[in-house]
Amino acid sequence: EITEIHASLSSTFLTSLSSSTKPNTTPSSKAGQYPVLSLPYRQHQLLQLARLVQENADALCHSLWVDEGKPRQEVLMAEIGAVIDRALKSARELEAWVGGGADMGEDVKLAGWQVGWKARVEKKAKGVVLIISPWNYPITLTLQPVCGAIAAGCPALIKPSEVVPTFSKLLAELVPKYLDPATYRVALGGVPEITRILELKWAHIFYTGNARVARIIAAAAAKHLTPMTLELGGKSPVIIDGASLGEAELRVAARRIVWGKVNNAGQICVAPDYVLIEPAYIPQFISACRAALDSFFPNGALNSHDYGRIVSEAHFSRVKGLLRDTKGRVVIGGGVLDGSGGPHEGAWARGVEPTVVLLDEATAADDVLLQDELFAPILPILPVASVAAALEYVRAHAHPLVIYAFTESDEVKREVKAGTMSGNVVFNDTFNQLSGAYLSFVRFSFRRASILDEIPFGGVGESGYGRQPLKWTFEEFVYLRSVLDVPFSEEPKFGGRYPPSSKESLDF
Ligand code: NAD
Repeated sequence: EITEIHASLSSTFLTSLSSSTKPNTTPSSKAGQYPVLSLPYRQHQLLQLARLVQENADALCHSLWVDEGKPRQEVLMAEIGAVIDRALKSARELEAWVGGGADMGEDVKLAGWQVGWKARVEKKAKGVVLIISPWNYPITLTLQPVCGAIAAGCPALIKPSEVVPTFSKLLAELVPKYLDPATYRVALGGVPEITRILELKWAHIFYTGNARVARIIAAAAAKHLTPMTLELGGKSPVIIDGASLGEAELRVAARRIVWGKVNNAGQICVAPDYVLIEPAYIPQFISACRAALDSFFPNGALNSHDYGRIVSEAHFSRVKGLLRDTKGRVVIGGGVLDGSGGPHEGAWARGVEPTVVLLDEATAADDVLLQDELFAPILPILPVASVAAALEYVRAHAHPLVIYAFTESDEVKREVKAGTMSGNVVFNDTFNQLSGAYLSFVRFSFRRASILDEIPFGGVGESGYGRQPLKWTFEEFVYLRSVLDVPFSEEPKFGGRYPPSSKESLDF
């Protein structure tokens, strides 16, 4: 079946190439009247995508509650609102991204002697693409790349994660109701299905997930020379420059760090993974973390419907293993709700309290909490002698997706930027490079939540390559095609390039 889907998407793309030899029709309200993958067609599909999410917001929230125990507020803020907003923006800004006009591109001005030549750069769809998404923010991380593929004019096969089956099944039902089934399809399944899918030739693969699987997918893509976007994760450090912060700033820093860690129970690619801080500021920082957690969850996180759960049994035993094996001292939390078979059901039975662990500098290097990305609500604190030592530690490890640094010092900000590599650097906040939605604002109207779309997001080295959202996602799915048109009348200028060579033409 997958071969048939691939063939049918390819045929849609070929049709789009032949139909685009005719100029675009005037936009009309009937989707069927647009030439396939023309600009008005793409804009219509983007609006349909926004409708899909808006009209099914409740069902989508519910599916993530069933699969992950994810709080509704988190889904509205980071997924539903974000995707609607970005689909609408993509439809609105698309003409500017492609260069507009029937030919869709930009004319380029050439040097004086080339006057009369016509040079252009056009952004052309790569072809039929594959989008593979993970479970942790499945609405955003599936549909945000879909927005880019639609905008670019690429038919797409969408492969959501088998770890969130209720969501993936719902998506497979909704996509054909809202998007053109000739152009956008969903494939369900796990490793056997994706392995088969990867045998086929795709024009681009957009993968979001972990670096181990990324290597498998990149190896399969290499067989067809398929370009990729890899949105991966890793250990994003937090550097606290205690010396530059007053008591109030350290309190706010702790609140922002803890908030970044408890979202989706720490299962975020940009979660603050561990904290680097000088010993003198540690007691104050720990009590500020405790105060923040008490204010977020006055009756305890595990009793709160605003606090998420661990996605699967496999991840749950991994996280429990981390708590069991760390040599550090648990200074906040540490509790586990292992309710399988009890009054709690499904995902809701797999809870891990927000937990802060103080590591011992002497034994920390081998500690289980400092090995792989934690992807859990566990925040280890690693004491360091200075900010310089913290930077040294970060430099000695894989380039993270994000470096968070809390400082009031411009000099330290400069050192963090100049002395490290990472996909993003965020000073004095967490997670805000992606969402920026404010709670009170969201409560009044989540669709108008403020989303930070003006800076690109993505990794470097082990944390991946390629960028999102909006225009940057669109750019992942197009290639730059240069077009040069040289008039016959320019021939007199080319005399010197043809053999036989003369003495003058060989003089330099
Ligand atoms: P996952 O287990 O859902 O896997 C992601 C996708 O890979 C799924 O669609 C799955 O079917 C597919 N897959 C799994 N095994 C495969 C195999 N052997 N061959 C081919 N495909 C396979 O999700 P995950 O990987 O656990 O997601 C979490 C990771 O994703 C974390 O490392 C996190 O940091 C990263 N992440 C990155 C971003 C980002 O934007 N940079 C966002 C979210 C998550």
